Amino acid sequence: MRKPVIVGNWKMNKTVSEAKELLEAIKKSDLDSEVEAGVCVPAIDLCAASKILDDGVVKFGGQNMYFEESGAFTGEISPLMLTDIKADYVILGHSERRDIFGEDDKLINEKVLSAFDHDLTPILCCGESLEEREADKQEEKVKAQIEADLKDVSEDDVKKLIIAYEPIWAIGTGKTASSDDAEAMCAFIRNLIAELYSKEASEAVRIQYGGSVKPANVKELMAKENIDGALVGGASLKAEDFAALVNHRK
Ligand code: PEP
Repeated sequence: MRKPVIVGNWKMNKTVSEAKELLEAIKKSDLDSEVEAGVCVPAIDLCAASKILDDGVVKFGGQNMYFEESGAFTGEISPLMLTDIKADYVILGHSERRDIFGEDDKLINEKVLSAFDHDLTPILCCGESLEEREADKQEEKVKAQIEADLKDVSEDDVKKLIIAYEPIWAIGTGKTASSDDAEAMCAFIRNLIAELYSKEASEAVRIQYGGSVKPANVKELMAKENIDGALVGGASLKAEDFAALVNHRK
């Protein structure tokens, strides 16, 4: 049985003082313990998340990292820095990292391998652009991303992975993929993991949908067989909405 997993991606939002307030409010929320809940916060807010979410009820993580442990990599944070403060996750390959900051699959693959080496759970993002969707190339695109990003990743590690399928045209736009389209792509990804690894690995890997998920549509998405969770941007920035997403079964 795969545990549902709802993770907030705060992106570049919340100063440290704002983050503390939101983290305290999230901590006070009454959250369904059958659902794994987490927040991925800006690097500067990570220490506050570590301190405030110290009971582990709500997990936390970074939104990116470099693959080396330390060194001359100005502006980066490392897997050691994340594990030192007991982070659980790291988002890797978000479309904003790929498109705005030019990250390619080779770099993302190095990061995925490094995250597993440090016992961090990668939330590996993939997804097609609007042009690719209109040309019916979404499967081709996502297959190429996943094959490259998971190069040399072991079957044991893949079982611990979270994959976030995020069609780029649905991120931050208010346009959600229909629950049928989201399910079709999540099923495609699960079959791909079965082909690349094994049926067992495909049944263990957790696949999230991301793209304008909100309290109003989370239930319908989460009812789909192959959607195990959601990676949520905008709607995760209010404690009330975040709690409603986590509590979608109540
Ligand atoms: C995201 O940041 O991964 C995301 C899906 O954003 P939003 O929910 O705002 O579309």
